[in-house]
Amino acid sequence: MNHNTMTSLLDIEIQLQGVSISEGIAIGEIHVLDEMQSSETPQFAISKREVEHEIQRYRKAISSSREDLFRIQDTLAQDGSVEAVTIIDTHIQMLQDPYMTTMMEDRISERLQNTEAVFQLAMCEYEEQFAKINDTFFQQRLSDVKDLSSRILNHLSVQGKRSFVDLPKDAIVIAKEITVSDTAEAPKGNVRAFLSHVGSHTSHAALVAKAKGIPYVSGVDLTLFSKEPNMKLIVDGTTGLVILKPTEATLRKYEKLSQEQKDKFFSHSSKLIGKSVTKDGHKVEVLANLENVDDVHLLDKYKADGIGLFRSEYLFFDNEVKDYSEESQFQIYKSLFKQAGSKPVYFRVFDIGADKHFFQDSVKESNPALGLRSIRFLLRHRDIFRIQLRALLRAAYSANLYLLLPLITDVSELLEVKRFISLIQDDLIATGYRVKKEIKIGSMVEVPSAVMMSEFIAQESDFLSIGTNDLIQYTLAVDRLNSAIANIYQPSHPSVIRLLKIVATNGLENKTPVSLCGEMASNPLFTSLLLGLGISKLSCSPRYVPLIKQTVCNTDLVSAQGLAQKALKLATSHEVHQLLTDYYCKHHQ
Ligand code: PEP
Ligand code: MG
Repeated sequence: MNHNTMTSLLDIEIQLQGVSISEGIAIGEIHVLDEMQSSETPQFAISKREVEHEIQRYRKAISSSREDLFRIQDTLAQDGSVEAVTIIDTHIQMLQDPYMTTMMEDRISERLQNTEAVFQLAMCEYEEQFAKINDTFFQQRLSDVKDLSSRILNHLSVQGKRSFVDLPKDAIVIAKEITVSDTAEAPKGNVRAFLSHVGSHTSHAALVAKAKGIPYVSGVDLTLFSKEPNMKLIVDGTTGLVILKPTEATLRKYEKLSQEQKDKFFSHSSKLIGKSVTKDGHKVEVLANLENVDDVHLLDKYKADGIGLFRSEYLFFDNEVKDYSEESQFQIYKSLFKQAGSKPVYFRVFDIGADKHFFQDSVKESNPALGLRSIRFLLRHRDIFRIQLRALLRAAYSANLYLLLPLITDVSELLEVKRFISLIQDDLIATGYRVKKEIKIGSMVEVPSAVMMSEFIAQESDFLSIGTNDLIQYTLAVDRLNSAIANIYQPSHPSVIRLLKIVATNGLENKTPVSLCGEMASNPLFTSLLLGLGISKLSCSPRYVPLIKQTVCNTDLVSAQGLAQKALKLATSHEVHQLLTDYYCKHHQ
């Protein structure tokens, strides 16, 4: 290859397939965030006289970090992102840990070293302890700790912190790893998108990017980018596609798409839709996934048709589930139902285990995702299950309750749970409580075995709800939180599409409504396909409700069924993705 050929090759448009983390299209210039970090932490000895000064520097760094976090929280609260505010709360709590402050002050005076050096060593020890625990939940906490420690180090550093002050107007921010602070602090006016090498769509950073409506793609090899820092590029957070050096034609196409999507996707002024009905007259309910009683107001804000998934275990996120009495749970659930009014609430009983370690007594499992989790856990710990069910059934007397069972694997498990629920109902009634006799009980379809047996599960369920977050991980054998393999966690994998079809068909044949509440429901690229496959309700993140409703209204069910037929004949995720992108561009732009 001669030199000229090489030059022209380097100048051609390059397309890279990453993993979609937060939807939306962005066009801008690369801004490498990692370069902003101060390179090396200074290490030097200090005299006894300097100890007090170093301790004061530490206290100042802590208080500046706390101010940062409160400021970030205010901005996020104005954006209405309750979840993100809670995440920042965790950081504030970590900062206020008195053990840490005492330990730091003692070590500075004992070791006679500068604050940065002592702090970095303490953090390394802390990280090492976390890293030893081979557990995805702790890995997520570890990234919070790293994020916080680099914030404190930045405040100690004379060069200042990793910041966004000198950003160009249309910055595509690139870093090996994007932290939750990065997504929280990024000024919406300048940062058009995030791009990283590692990062999973269930991380805190992802949650905040979504809440702020900033597109984000991960799983991209960044070596190509660092060589030309001012290179133009396109990030399509909806498809996960990244285009370097776009041609004029590509640029025009994406400029048009981006303009159309900007307001439609994320702006608060986007059209709020009451009833969402397809072009050919089929009503499709779009509900919201919630984790928190304080978020129920989002139903009205985004005009959601109800709570399609209430993840009850998150209420007890920072505590031991077993410490909550029937009475305290009853009060929480009563408040939930009161606020939801007549709207349906698909209440999922505790989905504990795997990445959600809300139960300290659990035996350490070598493979928790395949272990004692969800309904298996509740059947094994019936005392915990009984208390939750009693509190729930009492609180839901006049509510529009749909009781949802996580990770059902076959019909015998479902029948066992139904018997248990019925005993609790009888018991409550016998002791004088007012309890609804007819409760709608549904199964979450999250494992391939449940899909294959969905004919029987549908016969015994009042409804089915497909949890694609888990279904994808169990079908493709890809840990949903492992960023190293996030590129093969593919919602568009043909095997996933075929499994969805099986569930939808079995639901239809047994007159059991089928809804879908995994992250797939928040992605408009999939909306027409899901309706075409026969899924009749979607439950997504609250702020995506208007967009998904809009997409439903632009969908013609007959044409969507044609799309589903085509998708079912394809062999690779890439082909499915291409088909869905073409369809979306043609029908929804
Ligand atoms: C799912 O698995 O798709 C789901 C909705 O549940 P969670 O994400 O809480 O596991
Ligand atoms: Mg799940």
